[in-house]
Amino acid sequence: MAEPKNYITSLELKSHSKVGDLWISIQGKLCRIEGLIDWLDSSGIVFFGFSIGWWKWNHNAYHIACNSLDFDPDLQHSPFFVVSSKFFNSITSHFYGRKMTFDSIARFLVSYQHWTYYPVMCFARINLFAQSFMLLLSKRKVPNRGQEILGLIVFWIWYPLLVSCLPNWGERLMFIIASFAVTGIQHVQFTLNHFSTSVYVGPLTGNDWFEKQTSGTLNIACASWMDWFHGGLQFQVEHHLFPRLPRCQLRKISPFVMDLCKKHNLPYNIAPFWKANVLTIRTC
Ligand SMILES: [Zn+2]
Repeated sequence: MAEPKNYITSLELKSHSKVGDLWISIQGKLCRIEGLIDWLDSSGIVFFGFSIGWWKWNHNAYHIACNSLDFDPDLQHSPFFVVSSKFFNSITSHFYGRKMTFDSIARFLVSYQHWTYYPVMCFARINLFAQSFMLLLSKRKVPNRGQEILGLIVFWIWYPLLVSCLPNWGERLMFIIASFAVTGIQHVQFTLNHFSTSVYVGPLTGNDWFEKQTSGTLNIACASWMDWFHGGLQFQVEHHLFPRLPRCQLRKISPFVMDLCKKHNLPYNIAPFWKANVLTIRTC
């Protein structure tokens, strides 16, 4: 009797490697999952309240041009924060297509950014909400725009309804602040990974992608029992070098990445959580 085929052949692999193809192989059987991912994306909006299309657009740009002051949107928080004095010269954001003018408002806010960093992080989720609306209401092509808008409508009906169930305005306000502040921990983690590392102006040149990813990224040193808290973001170097690797595998490849960086004389930045906070505040 013939052995059951439990692997995908190279021929099948070739015929399913077009742009946009998304599939998984279960015991040699191909299952297309584009539709499933689209559905998960749209239903995710109902719970998170921000556009997955915006997240992908923003996150892809950030991954490609990690820590480029004019190409990486995750470093472009003027007038609230700047991570380099180069912003004092009013850099143009190629992602947002606008000049980040370092005016008197920016000068004032930036001069207090070491104090405002944590409070602003507590409400950083508002930026995600605003960016989502701006993208979905713009003329830019957005995949599954209809489902995304529907997801946002459901979220913005559900969230106020939930808040209205609380007995008084004091408790409602406390709930809103707490719900934002909890997500603020994640925003702090996002920024710890990049704010204190090296930055540059301009696009990537030649073959420096690998160097830029390692020099612009900071890992958080932690024991494996704390992995749940950092959610994989503690292996930021590994995530940037292998963005599609599942989070549960990042710890396993970490020693190999460390060796690779050592071999090619590249930085492998890593600091404990508190030290990473100190480094970030010093940058601010
Ligand atoms: Zn990522």
